[in-house]
Amino acid sequence: MQIVNDNGCSWINDLDPRSNIKVLEKNKECDWLIIGAGYTGLSAARKLAQLHPNQKIILIDAQLAGEGASGRNSGYLVDTTLNDGFTSNKDLENYKKKTDIYELGIKVIKKFIKEHQVECDWNDSGKFFASSKTEDEKILNNFSKTLSKLGFRHDLLDNKELSKRLGTKFYNIALYTKGGVLLHPGKLVRAMIDILPNNVELLENSSLIKWNKTNDVVSCYFKNGIIKTRKIIFATNGFLKFLGIKSNYNFPITLTASMTRPLTDQEFKTIGEPKEWGVLPVRPMGATIRMTKNRRILIRNTAEVYNPYQMSQSELDKRTLKQKFGIKKRFPQLPDNIIQSSWSGIVSRTRNSSQIFEKIDENIFVAGCYNGSGIGVGTLFGEQIAIKASNENTKEIETIEARNKPTWFPPEPFLSLGVKARLIYERMRAKSEI
Ligand SMILES: Cc1cc2nc3c(=O)[nH]c(=O)nc-3n(C[C@H](O)[C@H](O)[C@H](O)COP(=O)(O)OP(=O)(O)OC[C@H]3O[C@@H](n4cnc5c(N)ncnc54)[C@H](O)[C@@H]3O)c2cc1C
Repeated sequence: MQIVNDNGCSWINDLDPRSNIKVLEKNKECDWLIIGAGYTGLSAARKLAQLHPNQKIILIDAQLAGEGASGRNSGYLVDTTLNDGFTSNKDLENYKKKTDIYELGIKVIKKFIKEHQVECDWNDSGKFFASSKTEDEKILNNFSKTLSKLGFRHDLLDNKELSKRLGTKFYNIALYTKGGVLLHPGKLVRAMIDILPNNVELLENSSLIKWNKTNDVVSCYFKNGIIKTRKIIFATNGFLKFLGIKSNYNFPITLTASMTRPLTDQEFKTIGEPKEWGVLPVRPMGATIRMTKNRRILIRNTAEVYNPYQMSQSELDKRTLKQKFGIKKRFPQLPDNIIQSSWSGIVSRTRNSSQIFEKIDENIFVAGCYNGSGIGVGTLFGEQIAIKASNENTKEIETIEARNKPTWFPPEPFLSLGVKARLIYERMRAKSEI
């Protein structure tokens, strides 16, 4: 499989192009090999380099490091995700376990940013779970009860307050959570690449084609060579299934997003000059929409089973139209052609939305499947899987391992059909919110 992304991601295009890109050109041997250089792989490499300063560590990616989902997401570092209330204490306890992991994710990113003085447009602005449908008040009230029980600061807001804070009259009801951060995902992941320690060799544009394990050695086959390693960490997230990793537990989903150019002073005035904000939908397939620090509007309103992985320009154009419509619905006063770029990205889902974090065989480890929380959780899991693979334990590992484990998916073709049917149902439910 060739992984080639579109060049349309605004976050990545905001950055200076990188130089000194090294490709795998010959056979190599190492102590540690990490496949995938997004938040997970980069964090794993950083931690391994610290733990094993004299060992040889290779981090390799099929494309440019950080230019998969890690550089093309919506930039919400989340403390909570929506639920519509729990009927049992057990469910509440499970939700708390999730938020404990999110909290650790935020902490690990904060620490990284502080330690390396990273500038990534960090804004502790919180986020809104918003809907145009007043009947969704019931869901938000239930969510509010959960948040109150767990001590998360939040407010329920009506249309009047929302139009003031967001600059659109589209939403009738929302729950605002105080925690959670908005940031520039491209700047964050670039910083992780820039500070990679010297004992990590980063190889890019080199796709793992197949791998096997004989005795104690894992052999990984690439177009231009073989890498033999003692220990390996798979950090390929949406591509885990393709490499035969935990195939019955994860499933790739393709998301597309668009970003406008910065609004002019005049345009910004017509929407009431709101401060930076981020909205997540109450209905799962509704739009995620953000006003960025420099007055650009980001919208993501598609999620689909899409094969092949690489989306053609004409297919991407169709999604851009949907996103243009989504912006127009919310901001009818803005001109039609303000979308500057559109892109797609691949994430990995599990059936019960729980993450993968485990040793799958002697010396073989995997971390992934964070749904919409990979910025913090991916960074945390990368670091902690490196520690686990080094036979050490931490409180963080205990917290991670206390979560619900991913549940089993039925085999193909039932899986694809089931996921497609579910997405169609969710899309219909969220029709007004796209
Ligand atoms: C549009 C969009 C919006 C999102 N919004 C948010 C959000 O607001 N907040 C949030 O927290 N999360 C969000 N996410 C999810 C988040 O981006 C991911 O969870 C996170 O990036 C996962 O990081 P990762 O390092 O595990 O995987 P990735 O960033 O996907 O990195 C995996 C890497 O593995 C490489 N790879 C794959 N196969 C091979 C192979 N065979 N050989 C070598 N390398 C390989 C890929 O090239 C890729 O670079 C969003 C994702 C998308 C696409």
